[in-house]
Amino acid sequence: MLQHRLSRKAKRSRNYEKARSKVAKHQNNIASARKDYHYKTAHHLCSSKDVGMIFAEDLNLKAMSRGMLCKHTLDAAFGQFLNILKFVCWKKDVFFAKVNPNGTSQTCPMCLEETGKKDLSQRIHYCQFCGYKTDRDHAAAEVIRQRGIELISTQGLCGMETACAVGLPGARETSSRSEAKPDSRKGGRKTRNTQL
Ligand SMILES: [Zn+2]
Repeated sequence: MLQHRLSRKAKRSRNYEKARSKVAKHQNNIASARKDYHYKTAHHLCSSKDVGMIFAEDLNLKAMSRGMLCKHTLDAAFGQFLNILKFVCWKKDVFFAKVNPNGTSQTCPMCLEETGKKDLSQRIHYCQFCGYKTDRDHAAAEVIRQRGIELISTQGLCGMETACAVGLPGARETSSRSEAKPDSRKGGRKTRNTQL
């Protein structure tokens, strides 16, 4: 609406400048509200009881914005959320890592068989091999958790260093390693599916 009003003003006129600054303010408000929400969500995820680790899919957001999910992924500023989550994890001594996102929704977390592509309307994971049935996002979150734990155990501390320390100076992330207990592992996927 503001944008529309702006387009009707004569360029570089006084009223144009007024309308332009209104649009800019409005956009700025949206951006800061979103950022605020991202911080709140990240803190919420990190402060749940017994959270030692959070894993997320290492999604290629640029490719996704061109593909099937179109601009929705960019609108939701998911990349910004992951960066904020990484930062909050670092501050709160929660280990954060991104895992390989390929086929997370096509793998059975119980028997690790490939269960085939699901289209987005298919909300249930049902494995024809082992009979495991659960919510689609829950199943994907379980796969992400397994991959995260695998990442740590196969690559050892080196893997954790790369995953955790990118762009974040300081040695504090090392303490999260020693504090991370096996029973405190948690797989996080987007903002849902944290109740595993
Ligand atoms: Zn299965």
